[in-house]
Amino acid sequence: MTMNAMSNSPATLTPDTKHPRIPDRGEIDERHKWDLSALYPDWTAWEADLNEFGRQIDRYATLHGSLAGGPERLLAAMKLADDVGVRAYKVWYYASLNYDQDQRDNAVNARRQQVQILMARWHQASSWFNPELLSIPLETVREWMAANTDLALYRFAIEDLYRQQEHVLDQKGERLLAFADRFDSAPTDAFSALSTADVKFPTITLSTGELVPLSYGQYRAILATNRHQADRAEAFRAFHEVYKANINTYAALYHGVLQRDWFHSQAREYKTTLDAALHGNNIPPSVVENLIETTKAGTEPLRRYHRLRKRVLGLDTYHSYDGLVPLVEFDRKYSYGDVLAWIVGSAAPLGPEYQSKLAQAFERRWIDVYENAGKRSGAYSAPVYGSHPYVLLNYNDTLDAVFTLAHELGHSMHTVLAHSHQPFVYAGYTIFVAEVPSTLNEALFLDYMLARATDELERIVLLQHSIDDMVGTFYTQVLFADYELQAHRLVEQGKPVTADALSEIYFGLLKAYHGDALDYDEASAITWARVPHFYQMPYYVYQYATCYASTAQLMHDLRSGSESARRDAVERYLTLLKSGGSDYPMALLQRAGIDLRQREPVRAVVERLESRVSQLEAEIARLL
Ligand SMILES: [Zn+2]
Repeated sequence: MTMNAMSNSPATLTPDTKHPRIPDRGEIDERHKWDLSALYPDWTAWEADLNEFGRQIDRYATLHGSLAGGPERLLAAMKLADDVGVRAYKVWYYASLNYDQDQRDNAVNARRQQVQILMARWHQASSWFNPELLSIPLETVREWMAANTDLALYRFAIEDLYRQQEHVLDQKGERLLAFADRFDSAPTDAFSALSTADVKFPTITLSTGELVPLSYGQYRAILATNRHQADRAEAFRAFHEVYKANINTYAALYHGVLQRDWFHSQAREYKTTLDAALHGNNIPPSVVENLIETTKAGTEPLRRYHRLRKRVLGLDTYHSYDGLVPLVEFDRKYSYGDVLAWIVGSAAPLGPEYQSKLAQAFERRWIDVYENAGKRSGAYSAPVYGSHPYVLLNYNDTLDAVFTLAHELGHSMHTVLAHSHQPFVYAGYTIFVAEVPSTLNEALFLDYMLARATDELERIVLLQHSIDDMVGTFYTQVLFADYELQAHRLVEQGKPVTADALSEIYFGLLKAYHGDALDYDEASAITWARVPHFYQMPYYVYQYATCYASTAQLMHDLRSGSESARRDAVERYLTLLKSGGSDYPMALLQRAGIDLRQREPVRAVVERLESRVSQLEAEIARLL
């Protein structure tokens, strides 16, 4: 094996061709299919429950107007809503999981839609509740909760409803805002149309003479696998040319998004668009500001990594399109049967109880492992209250697939612990916490693999995987958050929003992060134009970074200090998972020892990256 810099290996552009035929579901071993009979024995039982769901919805509608009757009435409504919720999850997931295992099945699809129709009915039938409750003074409801312990269980949910009310307008105001709903989505829809339906990518010619019709997938594949820099450069040029051709239209659409956000923030009397975005989860804006500042001050290990890559890949200049290609050629397959024990083993720092719960996922068939004809792509962990989570995979023996499994099982364990310790009303958790257990499971698994890998190439691959993950899930997301914040500030401060203004912000950030470690291409400045999150979910991506930082600090606490300090850290972490959504995410994380208003969590990521890059430098020095 060589370090494979500008090697002569051909570009691998086509998808995995080693399994040309996708098997039918019937050919897959039962052991590797999830067991949905834990939900219902058959469709007849499902149907009976679906009917009960419909009857409960009708019963709930009859409670309209009853709340002022006192604590018992309120409690009855809360309890019935919980019952409906539990049943809704169960009937929904039975149909939806059945559907995802073969999406060509029209009969199952019809059943899935039956649930959706009932869910819409439930939404409508319960819409009276919030305004009716909020018409009762909070002081009165507090007295009720003090007098009725069963009702007191709902304290956090009820208090939060009143808190959210602070920015709700009177009936006339809400009606006006509701009229705006329909054109609120116009810039986002236009972006989707322009960047997907109407987009025309060119065909490019690679150095081998091969013609490749470009698409986003192809573009990523070339950047991730093609070892000829000239080919990556060509793909990059052609890809960005497409966005450049419409750059003023993209700017106008994004301007629409910014003005929409500012309109709603002002209408609801928030000081800034950031305040408005963070109010729902009660996150202080200083969290985002601190995240951005501390990350910007911690970019040196990121630059070191790119300098190392440039050297190892033997490049004279190093561009943004050179950041993905693997440093070494290493093609190990990870069979599903092998990795299960490793994943359970890697969770040892969290204790035997956690490990045995994790093992149940494999032993009791929570997981649908392999691809089959018609199966949904990707991976997820589905929470079903009152049962156990189900995990969908399309496992293909690659290292990425193993990490996906570890990741999804992190979500599953969060579900298991939250569901077994929380009533339904608090069983769910926000995205602000959700990616902590998943990334923590991945981090534990990576440490475990690194400690055991005897092959130096495998260690390099694992280290690169870990570093690329930090770059993609943390640094890039913070850069994105910084861009979104600066762009929104343009409209908040009444400044013009043009393609040039947006490109200037983006280019400035690229330089602030990468310094002299990158050779800059003019086209990089317009990257903002093609990032769907900016148009679809403003102020969302920062949460990946805050979760990542929380995980980095937890990993630090789990690994350092005295034996008893480590045990405390484990206890605090498991308490976080068991807490579900019973409090605001900041409060839950603080109890786990993480304060995202402070620098420590972000510093923990920077330190982790520093140590990974040092390890990688050492491994590579040994090899050369
Ligand atoms: Zn996840």
